[in-house]
Amino acid sequence: HNDAFEYPLRHDLMDWTAEHYPAWKESSEASRPTVLDIGCGFGGLTVALSKALPNETILGMEIRAKVTEFVRLRILALRKDVPGSYQNASVMRTNSMKFLPNYFPKGSLEKLFFCFPDPHFKRKNHPRRIVSYRLLSEYAYFLKPGGKLYAITDVKDLHEWHVKECDSHPMFDRITDKKELADDPCISAMITETEEGKKVARNGGDKHYAVYRRVPTYH
Ligand code: SAM
Repeated sequence: HNDAFEYPLRHDLMDWTAEHYPAWKESSEASRPTVLDIGCGFGGLTVALSKALPNETILGMEIRAKVTEFVRLRILALRKDVPGSYQNASVMRTNSMKFLPNYFPKGSLEKLFFCFPDPHFKRKNHPRRIVSYRLLSEYAYFLKPGGKLYAITDVKDLHEWHVKECDSHPMFDRITDKKELADDPCISAMITETEEGKKVARNGGDKHYAVYRRVPTYH
């Protein structure tokens, strides 16, 4: 994890079409991601969201080089299989706890997914958790007013942490409306389509999730 990452100095210097979405929208700005699968692992959700959200631009973000390369090749193979498909999905190797400001402007994201994030069990490692009060302020900045944050884990303590951090954050409100949750295709995708989620299901484990709305006013 320690080698240096290349990243643009400012988000407007990023060329999204060249490397990521060559056959998607007319410009780099129009192709900029609107949905992030943070810590995407092997990319099961990233590719599922490409189909579930055909009008959004999906980006998996992953810190491990080999895993990122696997997802890159996976998406290229899917695109080749059915020409015209999966043009709205891509993957990038980065540390998303550090570099979101280098890639995205304020209020540009519709959805953020945190699926089965590393639990960092020890109390002294809790600051390394990818969903934390501090980072929620950053996530609120990048999400559009009314945008959504999704978090799922098989670790009950971590789920309780997610709920505690998000509930206490003034920029996020938990979505509890049963119909709204049931009507959201992203929720079943998040439960069933990630590789970690499949492993938990095979082992008969529980999955705990929570969905939050970024407050609908702009501040
Ligand atoms: N979301 C996938 C799933 O559900 O199958 C993968 C879950 S895996 C337990 C957590 C992933 O997050 C790992 O692939 C890890 O490399 C990645 N990760 C951890 N910290 C990260 C960071 N700061 N930025 C990007 N990815 C990170």
